[in-house]
Amino acid sequence: MSKKSHQNWSWIILVTFILVAAIKPIFGLFGIVCMTAPMYHALRGRGKIHCSKYCPRGSLLGKFLKYISLNNTLPAPLRSKTAKNILLTLMISMLTFAMIHTKGNINKVGFALFRFMSLSLLVGIIIGIIFKPRSWCQICPMGHACDLIDKQVKNKIPNLETAKNNPHQGIIFWSRRQDLNLRPYGPEPYALPPVLHPEIFLKYILIIPLCNNNENIV
Ligand code: SF4
Repeated sequence: MSKKSHQNWSWIILVTFILVAAIKPIFGLFGIVCMTAPMYHALRGRGKIHCSKYCPRGSLLGKFLKYISLNNTLPAPLRSKTAKNILLTLMISMLTFAMIHTKGNINKVGFALFRFMSLSLLVGIIIGIIFKPRSWCQICPMGHACDLIDKQVKNKIPNLETAKNNPHQGIIFWSRRQDLNLRPYGPEPYALPPVLHPEIFLKYILIIPLCNNNENIV
């Protein structure tokens, strides 16, 4: 952690958030900031700057767990892309179900976010004790989402041929169907988009709107 990094102190934000939201669940709404900040930076083309400079969770794990961590290396299968995709899908699903259950009650939304943040922190702490302190960062859904967004933003969907030959980018191709006057899901081999795949989910909610606002694409 460099001296200039805000991660020297940003753990205070997370501890304050947990304490305050435990007393007044509505303050759990601030969890939205924590969850969206990494993706905001990635969408602005700043890569994982949130992870390296600001993240309160990374700060807390790195600052305190080093004293009690067993320092084992996280097993390779847990660091695989498949494992990260599964975890990201799981967390998106859990959060979606939790939000549906709140039925729009703002206090319940706050509590659901607080519970979500606390549980993921608890998992991060347990993993950080068994393995290296910031092992959670190797599988963190937010960090993984940033990677996926960063990759897409930097590539900027280079051209239509690439999209045609890549089932994932076929979704982007689909998003341009009106401009291109083509069938909704393009020519074969495109089938219905695999919306449950986290990469596709992120493209649907984040990348496609970004691309549709970019007149230079294709
Ligand atoms: S990987 Fe996750 S927990 Fe780690 S610094 Fe990035 S956002 Fe924070």
